[in-house]
Amino acid sequence: MTYLVGLTGGIGCGKSTIANFFKELGAHIIDADEISHALTAPSGIAIEAIKQAFGNEFIDDLGAMHRAKMRELIFSDPDTKRQLENILHPLIYQQVLAKINQLQHTPYILLVIPLLIESPKYLALVQRIAVVDCDEPQQISRTMARSHLTEDTIHKIMACQISRTQRLQHADDVISNQNELVLTKAQVTALHAQYLKMRN
Ligand code: ATP
Repeated sequence: MTYLVGLTGGIGCGKSTIANFFKELGAHIIDADEISHALTAPSGIAIEAIKQAFGNEFIDDLGAMHRAKMRELIFSDPDTKRQLENILHPLIYQQVLAKINQLQHTPYILLVIPLLIESPKYLALVQRIAVVDCDEPQQISRTMARSHLTEDTIHKIMACQISRTQRLQHADDVISNQNELVLTKAQVTALHAQYLKMRN
């Protein structure tokens, strides 16, 4: 069984940036958000179920899930959020397991997942938890600079995630991404060396 490290953090903390640093060092990455995007991209395997459940207006001209419309809906109606999760979560989990299986012979796998600590199924899978950390003002300004999300929407997303304090309580390793990326990268380099030695 290969060693599985869960990488998590709140919205905009820098999970993707840090996952890329690990990748550059040769780590194997499974990214739950990437899987979710592929499922809801044009011809993605969740598209038909989304169409059935929510109607054609939630599918855009290219055949992908209409993200902005869906985001608006699920934040205004928790039942629809659960409905979408019931479609996507089992498919994401299945694909994560399949990818873990394919990567059995690698020294370790980094599983990047925003809601790791909130998800008992994933918590049970990982042997170690690395938390990407920065303060809330940084999270908000970086997310706003990168996306079209309003501050209000970002607050709503943050309200669905556990608090920074709770997340840090679960961390085996904390990667501080508060400052310049060169400082973050040095922490990633040290952790990669440590994880390479941890194979079961
Ligand atoms: P999400 O939860 O929304 O998927 P994320 O946690 O994966 O976000 P990133 O996409 O890696 O976060 O980073 C958010 C934004 O902040 C990106 O535009 C990224 O380039 C920028 N960023 C990340 N870390 C730093 C840093 N240390 N200094 C400056 N900008 C940063």
